[in-house]
Amino acid sequence: MEVGNVFCYNTFEDPMDIDKNPNVGESMDSDDDEEAYGDEPDEPGVSDDDGDGEAHDDEKEKRWKPPTLEAARIAHTDIKALIRPPRNTGNGYKNPGLDLLLRSRLESMQRFLWAYIDVKSPFHKKWMAASLDIARTAEKGLWFARRLREWTSAFIKNAENLPLNIYGTWNKSRVDDEGLKQELFTHLQSIGKYISAMDVVRYMAQPDVQKRYMMKKGITEMTARNWLSRIGFRWTLEPSGQYVDGHERDDIVEYRQKVFLPRWKELEPNLRAWTKDGTEEEVGERPQPQRLVVWFHDESTFYANDRRRKRWVHMSEKAVPRAKGEGASLMVADFVSADYGWLRSPDGKESARVVFKAGKTRDGYFTNTEIILQLELAMDIVQKYYPNNHHIFVYDNATTHTKRPATTPTASKMTKNPSKKFGAEVTVTVNGKIQYAANGKPQKHTVQMGPVILPNGQPHYFYETPSTTVLGMFKGTMKLLQERGLTEEVKLKGSCKNFKCPAGTTHCCQRRVLYNQPDFADQLSAIEIACKARGFEAIFLPKFHCELNFIEQCWGHAKRVYRQYPPSSKEDDLERNVLSALESVPVETMRKCVPIYTQMTQ
Ligand SMILES: [Zn+2]
Repeated sequence: MEVGNVFCYNTFEDPMDIDKNPNVGESMDSDDDEEAYGDEPDEPGVSDDDGDGEAHDDEKEKRWKPPTLEAARIAHTDIKALIRPPRNTGNGYKNPGLDLLLRSRLESMQRFLWAYIDVKSPFHKKWMAASLDIARTAEKGLWFARRLREWTSAFIKNAENLPLNIYGTWNKSRVDDEGLKQELFTHLQSIGKYISAMDVVRYMAQPDVQKRYMMKKGITEMTARNWLSRIGFRWTLEPSGQYVDGHERDDIVEYRQKVFLPRWKELEPNLRAWTKDGTEEEVGERPQPQRLVVWFHDESTFYANDRRRKRWVHMSEKAVPRAKGEGASLMVADFVSADYGWLRSPDGKESARVVFKAGKTRDGYFTNTEIILQLELAMDIVQKYYPNNHHIFVYDNATTHTKRPATTPTASKMTKNPSKKFGAEVTVTVNGKIQYAANGKPQKHTVQMGPVILPNGQPHYFYETPSTTVLGMFKGTMKLLQERGLTEEVKLKGSCKNFKCPAGTTHCCQRRVLYNQPDFADQLSAIEIACKARGFEAIFLPKFHCELNFIEQCWGHAKRVYRQYPPSSKEDDLERNVLSALESVPVETMRKCVPIYTQMTQ
């Protein structure tokens, strides 16, 4: 499927993610060939084409490029301080606590650097020659000269890179130390899902941690990214079950082509059209005198911490259904139209926006009950302030949205015999507010299910005495089938085990037969019923096509603004920032992003 020139943003991926995407590939010590050298003896005949302009590719060139004199001078000073750290009193030197091998390597590096930077040295500014000379005076060969250049380059790049004995080769990093790795990992886990390289930097800045790992200072953010990558994190989109490639599933294509697009084609001539600068375009006569206003609904979550969908994801992490409200986050559910912006009264005082701190200990979860309450509020507002328009509410095809009312007839749990208990569990609401029990859970009570409307227009009640207040006696599937004249089916067993009927069967059990009755199967969702009851219409977007939801463009804009606010984990800040970011989306900008679905082709 192609979508025409419809969206003003090419992608929902935030460009700021790209800016901040750390390049973890720059690890100094990532080349396999370096493993081979170790501390092995002389390697005669190894071509050593570095430093003299014969590098064969960019990568090599970068790696073997001699350092600037300035960088070499700084490194020289640092190495001197490492070998002989000055005492705090100013006299003499502290014991640097270096093992003998590290110490001797550092001393070679110091001599090498001095030969390179000293203007009187015959090897001044001669990187390659200086390394060979130091190797020669140390009675070592080419391999040592090469290692010396590697060690020194790495140290110049990052003073954390020491040629430590315990790590053996350059392909190791301090974080390969199991103790440190575990310690960091535990620390990062305690932070939660949204970790950053700065968390590692801050952790390593602690004096006691540095002491434990014999470090004289902390690490840079660059090194922290490298470490995260080494201990198994990747900077990536969070694993999510949502990105299933479901676009081309038959039922979705069918819905899109046969239900959604045709309906949209009927509606489109009555929509307002917008010019490039976001004002209304005069297009003359419309089929209907009233303008049609489409309200797009959706929920979106704003995160306090990393505030991006891209984050450090550990390789062991599996895709999990995203629990709404993990960590400090705020969910916003709202409606938006190109005509009026966010759904509210013209003075802004009445709004259908729900700001929701999702999570068990906060505001609970946003369920279908809340969705319906919000829709009722939205309908109140548009009826009151925009009575001269037709209104349509567009929802994503998510299960929370397409849910049928709890009282919707379904045979899936019906008992064969009469029951005093069988019914539908509904949430108790009073004046549009959910009632909560003492344990914090929404209050539920059981009411009669159904009835269904038979093809002849008559209701078929499931209870001996129909009532909206008392539960009473449920008839049982046997009697329901009898009342429908399905006398053969009455002989079937009540239900296959757990209603898991063999695939493709329609006459295996009483439940299945009832379940497939047309008046049972065709049921409206709670959203559709609520709209219909007040003369509005609800439309569901095709599944996996949330990109068709115009509100996504508005969330995207708001999130870009939101991320520019200073980060804060305080809930007050979070809410204030989110609301102010939402306010920042100009309606003119929204109008430039209105999707024109009829340009969609298969
Ligand atoms: Zn069955």
